[in-house]
Amino acid sequence: MTRLGGIATFASRGANGYVLAVVAVGAALLARLGLEAFGKFYYLPLIPAVMLPALLASRGATVLAIILSIAANVALVPRESVVDGAVNAVLFACVGLAIGEFGRIGRAARANARALSARLSTRDATIGAILASAAVVSVDRRSRILSMSEPACALFGVREPDVLGRPFSDFVEFFDSAAERTSGADEFYWPGRRRDGEVFPVGIHTASIENPEGPPDTILTLTDLSRWRSAEARNQELRDQLNQVWRLNSLGEIAATLSHELNQPLTAAASYLQATQADLGRAGVFADSASRTVELAKNQVLRAGDIIRRARSLLAGDEHRLDPQRVSSMIDDLEPILQLLGPAAGAQLRIAVEDQADWVLADRIQFQQAIVNLVRNAIEAVADQPRRNVVILGQALSTTGYRISVEDSGPGIAPDQIDRMFKPLMTTKAGGMGLGLSVTRTIVERHGGALSVQTSDLGGAAFAFSLQRLPEPLP
Ligand code: ADP
Repeated sequence: MTRLGGIATFASRGANGYVLAVVAVGAALLARLGLEAFGKFYYLPLIPAVMLPALLASRGATVLAIILSIAANVALVPRESVVDGAVNAVLFACVGLAIGEFGRIGRAARANARALSARLSTRDATIGAILASAAVVSVDRRSRILSMSEPACALFGVREPDVLGRPFSDFVEFFDSAAERTSGADEFYWPGRRRDGEVFPVGIHTASIENPEGPPDTILTLTDLSRWRSAEARNQELRDQLNQVWRLNSLGEIAATLSHELNQPLTAAASYLQATQADLGRAGVFADSASRTVELAKNQVLRAGDIIRRARSLLAGDEHRLDPQRVSSMIDDLEPILQLLGPAAGAQLRIAVEDQADWVLADRIQFQQAIVNLVRNAIEAVADQPRRNVVILGQALSTTGYRISVEDSGPGIAPDQIDRMFKPLMTTKAGGMGLGLSVTRTIVERHGGALSVQTSDLGGAAFAFSLQRLPEPLP
């Protein structure tokens, strides 16, 4: 078999088939010579000489073997009549060509079978690799488990032989493959149950596979969503904290503004009342009652001033805790929120915050609030621009400082606007509150820094501030 295989490989290459045809016809003629003593064999011994190239070589080689065989026969075997010789030659040619065709069909069938088996084994290997890396379960029409890949077993903490034939709902309660198919939503998840009883969120995608012996089976591809869910929950928590801090900060800013604005008129009103009281004192006993009323009014005015001052200090939350924090980690946490802000307005947001020497003294949430305010403003500033680029840059400046800037490719800020812009309640936007920059400035100042604005290399505004750097903590 191996020798035949070797000949087949030899014969299939270039002109080798023709060599095979010549050798085969030569060998057949010798065999016929040897058989001469036993009788006349004409074409019979030459049939194998045609079969060999027919099975192993090209059609041309087979035709050559036929022609050589007929030529040898005509030359070597004396015939009584030309007609007899011609008829025999034609018959041999027909038989030879038929053998050649069968041989060709056989060879093509063999080649097809080889290619098919190679494709099947590649597909087998691919399916094996998928099953080794993906959590896949196949179930029958009644949702009974037919197979469970190793990652799926690991997900539930079971072994495949122990689960075969069991209902899939033992592992994913209430699972309904029809419902999954119509819901089709990625965020949809089912309660999976591990062997130790722990319940975890699992995403399931279903696909039907035809079963020639009955109704189709279903392939379930499972995704453990626990990590995704907890990341989602962390993001939500951060969003809630930022909202809360924003509300307090903006209320504090409004209280500070009111306190600042009302302080002067209230002080003036108290002084006028004081003067009125003095005048009434000089008017004698008749004015006593009026003087008492003025005294009451003055006390109320002073109390109003006090209330506003107290509200301000309460809302400003004076007791802010500055802890050692890494700038890169504070920004990393914010990334999902920032990514929501940027693409929503069609802006390209780039974060280039160096994580070397980035330990600073900061209030984590307040710092994040300041960054969100600046990024939101930057994104709004680029909204009408042809280029919409926003970048957050961060790098250590010196042994004591770390500089953060939020830059954009917006219209920038006119020099005469700079001072006004930081004032509370000053806005150029239709739905703006005018609190973002004043809150941000207050936060930066609480961190011992100063918020500055310049022109960015991107063409728009660059808001920057520095935080106090700390030495890297020992591991
Ligand atoms: P609001 O965003 O509610 O208007 P802010 O205090 O955050 O309040 O901003 C005040 C004003 O400063 C904005 O209305 C805008 O005119 C201007 N401003 C803030 N950031 C930018 C920026 N990156 N580019 C251009 N103008 C800005």
